[in-house]
Amino acid sequence: MAPEFDSPHVLKYSWMHPHLKYLIDLQAVDLRLIEIRERLSRFPKRLAELEGRVAAARQQITTAKEALTGSLKDRKTYEMDVEHWKERAKKYRNQSAEVKTNEAYKALQHEIQNAEDEVAKAEDRLLDRMVAGEEYERQLKTAEVTVKQMEAAANTERHTIQAEYNATQKELTAAEAVRAAAVAAVPEDLVDHYERIAKRHGGISLAEIRGEGCGQCGVHIRPHVIQKLQRPDNEEFFHCDTCTRILYYADHAASRGPTSAASTVGTPAAPAHES
Ligand SMILES: [Zn+2]
Repeated sequence: MAPEFDSPHVLKYSWMHPHLKYLIDLQAVDLRLIEIRERLSRFPKRLAELEGRVAAARQQITTAKEALTGSLKDRKTYEMDVEHWKERAKKYRNQSAEVKTNEAYKALQHEIQNAEDEVAKAEDRLLDRMVAGEEYERQLKTAEVTVKQMEAAANTERHTIQAEYNATQKELTAAEAVRAAAVAAVPEDLVDHYERIAKRHGGISLAEIRGEGCGQCGVHIRPHVIQKLQRPDNEEFFHCDTCTRILYYADHAASRGPTSAASTVGTPAAPAHES
Protein backbone atom coordinates (compact mmCIF):
# COMPACT_ATOMS: atom_id res chain seq x y z
CA MET A 1 0.00 0.00 0.00
CA ALA A 2 1.29 3.43 -0.88
CA PRO A 3 1.74 5.80 2.01
CA GLU A 4 -0.83 8.55 1.80
CA PHE A 5 0.72 10.54 4.52
CA ASP A 6 2.82 13.62 4.06
CA SER A 7 6.28 13.62 5.54
CA PRO A 8 5.92 15.74 8.67
CA HIS A 9 9.36 17.23 8.34
CA VAL A 10 8.40 19.62 5.57
CA LEU A 11 5.29 20.90 7.27
CA LYS A 12 5.17 23.93 9.47
CA TYR A 13 2.89 23.30 12.39
CA SER A 14 4.29 25.51 15.08
CA TRP A 15 0.71 26.51 15.92
CA MET A 16 -0.24 22.94 16.56
CA HIS A 17 -0.89 21.13 19.78
CA PRO A 18 2.52 19.67 20.65
CA HIS A 19 1.16 16.16 21.09
CA LEU A 20 -0.37 16.30 17.66
CA LYS A 21 3.06 16.95 16.18
CA TYR A 22 4.31 13.73 17.73
CA LEU A 23 1.21 11.90 16.54
CA ILE A 24 2.02 13.09 13.02
CA ASP A 25 5.54 11.69 13.44
CA LEU A 26 4.02 8.51 14.84
CA GLN A 27 1.62 8.27 11.89
CA ALA A 28 4.43 8.73 9.38
CA VAL A 29 6.58 6.05 10.95
CA ASP A 30 3.60 3.71 11.36
CA LEU A 31 2.88 3.95 7.65
CA ARG A 32 6.53 3.18 6.98
CA LEU A 33 6.30 0.22 9.34
CA ILE A 34 3.23 -1.09 7.52
CA GLU A 35 5.06 -0.81 4.22
CA ILE A 36 8.26 -2.42 5.59
CA ARG A 37 6.34 -5.29 7.22
CA GLU A 38 4.41 -5.83 4.02
CA ARG A 39 7.70 -6.11 2.12
CA LEU A 40 9.06 -8.50 4.76
CA SER A 41 5.98 -10.68 4.48
CA ARG A 42 6.64 -11.20 0.77
CA PHE A 43 10.09 -12.78 1.26
CA PRO A 44 8.95 -16.33 2.12
CA LYS A 45 6.79 -16.41 -1.02
CA ARG A 46 9.66 -15.12 -3.17
CA LEU A 47 11.97 -17.82 -1.80
CA ALA A 48 9.32 -20.51 -2.22
CA GLU A 49 8.79 -19.49 -5.85
CA LEU A 50 12.51 -19.65 -6.49
CA GLU A 51 12.82 -23.11 -4.91
CA GLY A 52 9.73 -24.20 -6.85
CA ARG A 53 11.33 -23.24 -10.16
CA VAL A 54 14.53 -25.15 -9.31
CA ALA A 55 12.51 -28.18 -8.15
CA ALA A 56 10.49 -28.15 -11.40
CA ALA A 57 13.70 -28.12 -13.44
CA ARG A 58 15.12 -30.98 -11.36
CA GLN A 59 11.90 -32.89 -11.96
CA GLN A 60 12.64 -32.69 -15.70
CA ILE A 61 15.86 -34.62 -15.07
CA THR A 62 13.98 -37.26 -13.10
CA THR A 63 11.36 -37.57 -15.84
CA ALA A 64 13.97 -37.88 -18.59
CA LYS A 65 15.90 -40.47 -16.55
CA GLU A 66 12.78 -42.53 -15.97
CA ALA A 67 11.89 -42.40 -19.67
CA LEU A 68 15.43 -43.45 -20.58
CA THR A 69 15.41 -46.35 -18.10
CA GLY A 70 12.03 -47.44 -19.45
CA SER A 71 13.23 -47.37 -23.04
CA LEU A 72 16.35 -49.41 -22.14
CA LYS A 73 14.16 -52.01 -20.43
CA ASP A 74 11.90 -52.15 -23.51
CA ARG A 75 14.96 -52.55 -25.72
CA LYS A 76 16.06 -55.62 -23.70
CA THR A 77 12.56 -57.11 -24.03
CA TYR A 78 12.39 -56.52 -27.79
CA GLU A 79 15.92 -57.86 -28.32
CA MET A 80 14.82 -61.02 -26.58
CA ASP A 81 11.67 -61.11 -28.75
CA VAL A 82 13.80 -60.86 -31.90
CA GLU A 83 16.05 -63.70 -30.69
CA HIS A 84 13.06 -65.78 -29.67
CA TRP A 85 11.32 -65.54 -33.08
CA LYS A 86 14.57 -66.06 -34.98
CA GLU A 87 15.08 -69.29 -32.99
CA ARG A 88 11.54 -70.38 -33.80
CA ALA A 89 12.01 -69.70 -37.54
CA LYS A 90 15.29 -71.60 -37.49
CA LYS A 91 13.67 -74.56 -35.73
CA TYR A 92 10.82 -74.70 -38.30
CA ARG A 93 13.25 -74.50 -41.20
CA ASN A 94 15.22 -77.42 -39.75
CA GLN A 95 12.00 -79.38 -39.32
CA SER A 96 10.84 -78.64 -42.83
CA ALA A 97 13.87 -80.53 -44.25
CA GLU A 98 12.57 -83.64 -42.57
CA VAL A 99 8.80 -83.56 -43.25
CA LYS A 100 7.28 -86.25 -45.42
CA THR A 101 3.98 -84.73 -46.54
CA ASN A 102 3.22 -81.71 -48.61
CA GLU A 103 0.65 -80.62 -46.08
CA ALA A 104 3.06 -80.70 -43.17
CA TYR A 105 5.59 -78.84 -45.29
CA LYS A 106 3.04 -76.13 -46.06
CA ALA A 107 2.09 -75.85 -42.42
CA LEU A 108 5.71 -75.38 -41.48
CA GLN A 109 6.20 -72.78 -44.18
CA HIS A 110 3.31 -70.94 -42.67
CA GLU A 111 4.91 -71.10 -39.20
CA ILE A 112 8.21 -69.91 -40.63
CA GLN A 113 6.52 -66.96 -42.30
CA ASN A 114 4.70 -66.14 -39.11
CA ALA A 115 7.92 -66.26 -37.06
CA GLU A 116 9.72 -64.06 -39.58
CA ASP A 117 6.86 -61.56 -39.43
CA GLU A 118 7.21 -61.51 -35.64
CA VAL A 119 10.97 -60.96 -36.01
CA ALA A 120 10.29 -57.96 -38.27
CA LYS A 121 7.72 -56.54 -35.84
CA ALA A 122 10.03 -56.95 -32.85
CA GLU A 123 12.86 -55.35 -34.83
CA ASP A 124 10.58 -52.39 -35.63
CA ARG A 125 9.71 -51.99 -31.98
CA LEU A 126 13.38 -52.28 -31.08
CA LEU A 127 14.37 -49.61 -33.59
CA ASP A 128 11.60 -47.37 -32.32
CA ARG A 129 12.86 -47.73 -28.74
CA MET A 130 16.46 -47.05 -29.84
CA VAL A 131 15.40 -43.81 -31.52
CA ALA A 132 13.31 -42.86 -28.51
CA GLY A 133 16.22 -43.72 -26.20
CA GLU A 134 18.47 -41.32 -28.09
CA GLU A 135 15.82 -38.62 -27.73
CA TYR A 136 15.54 -39.28 -23.99
CA GLU A 137 19.32 -39.08 -23.69
CA ARG A 138 19.25 -35.69 -25.43
CA GLN A 139 16.44 -34.51 -23.16
CA LEU A 140 18.36 -35.67 -20.12
CA LYS A 141 21.50 -33.83 -21.19
CA THR A 142 19.50 -30.65 -21.92
CA ALA A 143 17.72 -30.90 -18.57
CA GLU A 144 21.03 -31.38 -16.77
CA VAL A 145 22.51 -28.28 -18.42
CA THR A 146 19.36 -26.27 -17.69
CA VAL A 147 19.33 -27.33 -14.03
CA LYS A 148 23.00 -26.47 -13.66
CA GLN A 149 22.43 -22.96 -15.04
CA MET A 150 19.28 -22.58 -13.03
CA GLU A 151 20.94 -23.60 -9.79
CA ALA A 152 23.72 -21.08 -10.37
CA ALA A 153 21.18 -18.34 -11.08
CA ALA A 154 19.07 -19.43 -8.11
CA ASN A 155 22.12 -19.23 -5.86
CA THR A 156 22.72 -15.64 -6.92
CA GLU A 157 19.04 -14.82 -6.51
CA ARG A 158 18.98 -16.44 -3.07
CA HIS A 159 21.85 -14.20 -1.97
CA THR A 160 20.13 -11.13 -3.43
CA ILE A 161 16.90 -11.96 -1.62
CA GLN A 162 18.79 -12.61 1.61
CA ALA A 163 20.63 -9.28 1.31
CA GLU A 164 17.36 -7.46 0.61
CA TYR A 165 15.77 -9.21 3.56
CA ASN A 166 18.62 -8.18 5.88
CA ALA A 167 18.41 -4.58 4.66
CA THR A 168 14.65 -4.57 5.19
CA GLN A 169 15.10 -5.98 8.70
CA LYS A 170 17.49 -3.10 9.43
CA GLU A 171 14.91 -0.64 8.12
CA LEU A 172 12.38 -2.25 10.44
CA THR A 173 14.65 -1.93 13.48
CA ALA A 174 15.38 1.72 12.66
CA ALA A 175 11.71 2.54 12.12
CA GLU A 176 10.77 0.78 15.36
CA ALA A 177 13.28 2.98 17.20
CA VAL A 178 11.75 6.09 15.63
CA ARG A 179 8.31 4.87 16.67
CA ALA A 180 9.42 4.23 20.25
CA ALA A 181 10.72 7.81 20.45
CA ALA A 182 7.46 9.23 19.06
CA VAL A 183 5.37 7.09 21.43
CA ALA A 184 7.47 8.17 24.41
CA ALA A 185 6.65 11.83 23.68
CA VAL A 186 2.87 11.34 23.83
CA PRO A 187 0.72 10.49 26.88
CA GLU A 188 -0.16 6.83 27.03
CA ASP A 189 -3.93 7.30 26.79
CA LEU A 190 -3.51 9.40 23.66
CA VAL A 191 -1.36 6.67 22.10
CA ASP A 192 -4.10 4.17 22.98
CA HIS A 193 -6.69 6.43 21.39
CA TYR A 194 -4.54 6.85 18.28
CA GLU A 195 -3.97 3.09 18.01
CA ARG A 196 -7.65 2.25 18.38
CA ILE A 197 -8.49 4.52 15.46
CA ALA A 198 -5.52 3.17 13.45
CA LYS A 199 -6.68 -0.40 13.97
CA ARG A 200 -10.09 0.40 12.52
CA HIS A 201 -8.81 2.44 9.59
CA GLY A 202 -5.99 0.54 7.93
CA GLY A 203 -3.31 2.07 10.13
CA ILE A 204 -4.24 5.69 9.38
CA SER A 205 -5.68 7.49 12.37
CA LEU A 206 -4.82 11.07 11.41
CA ALA A 207 -6.43 13.08 8.63
CA GLU A 208 -5.10 16.30 7.26
CA ILE A 209 -7.59 19.01 6.35
CA ARG A 210 -7.58 19.31 2.58
CA GLY A 211 -9.43 22.31 1.27
CA GLU A 212 -12.61 22.15 3.32
CA GLY A 213 -12.71 18.43 3.78
CA CYS A 214 -11.19 15.45 5.54
CA GLY A 215 -8.06 14.46 3.61
CA GLN A 216 -8.79 10.77 4.22
CA CYS A 217 -12.53 10.29 3.69
CA GLY A 218 -13.27 13.55 1.89
CA VAL A 219 -16.25 14.53 3.99
CA HIS A 220 -16.86 18.25 4.51
CA ILE A 221 -15.47 19.68 7.76
CA ARG A 222 -17.29 22.50 9.50
CA PRO A 223 -15.51 25.84 8.97
CA HIS A 224 -15.26 26.67 12.67
CA VAL A 225 -13.36 23.41 13.26
CA ILE A 226 -10.92 24.32 10.52
CA GLN A 227 -10.56 27.78 11.94
CA LYS A 228 -9.84 26.39 15.41
CA LEU A 229 -7.29 23.96 14.04
CA GLN A 230 -5.53 26.85 12.33
CA ARG A 231 -5.26 28.82 15.56
CA PRO A 232 -1.76 28.86 17.13
CA ASP A 233 -3.16 28.46 20.64
CA ASN A 234 -5.54 25.64 19.84
CA GLU A 235 -5.31 22.85 22.41
CA GLU A 236 -8.37 20.92 21.30
CA PHE A 237 -8.48 17.68 19.36
CA PHE A 238 -11.08 17.33 16.64
CA HIS A 239 -12.24 14.21 14.90
CA CYS A 240 -13.77 13.72 11.50
CA ASP A 241 -17.48 13.08 12.02
CA THR A 242 -17.50 10.41 9.35
CA CYS A 243 -14.25 8.46 9.61
CA THR A 244 -13.46 9.47 13.23
CA ARG A 245 -9.83 10.22 12.44
CA ILE A 246 -7.98 12.92 14.35
CA LEU A 247 -7.92 16.06 12.24
CA TYR A 248 -5.00 18.39 11.78
CA TYR A 249 -4.24 21.36 9.62
CA ALA A 250 -0.87 21.82 7.92
CA ASP A 251 0.04 24.98 6.08
CA HIS A 252 1.81 23.65 2.97
CA ALA A 253 2.10 27.14 1.49
CA ALA A 254 4.12 28.30 4.50
CA SER A 255 6.54 25.41 4.19
CA ARG A 256 6.97 25.50 0.45
CA GLY A 257 10.72 25.94 0.16
CA PRO A 258 13.02 25.04 -2.71
CA THR A 259 13.22 21.40 -1.63
CA SER A 260 9.78 20.79 -0.24
CA ALA A 261 7.80 21.32 -3.42
CA ALA A 262 7.80 17.59 -4.03
CA SER A 263 6.46 16.80 -0.57
CA THR A 264 2.87 16.42 -1.75
CA VAL A 265 3.70 14.19 -4.68
CA GLY A 266 1.99 10.86 -4.31
CA THR A 267 -0.71 12.08 -1.96
CA PRO A 268 -4.34 11.72 -3.01
CA ALA A 269 -5.73 14.50 -5.11
CA ALA A 270 -6.75 17.22 -2.72
CA PRO A 271 -9.64 19.56 -3.22
CA ALA A 272 -8.68 23.06 -4.29
CA HIS A 273 -6.29 24.50 -1.78
CA GLU A 274 -7.22 27.65 0.00
CA SER A 275 -4.14 29.55 0.94
ZN1 LIG B 1 -12.79 11.65 7.50
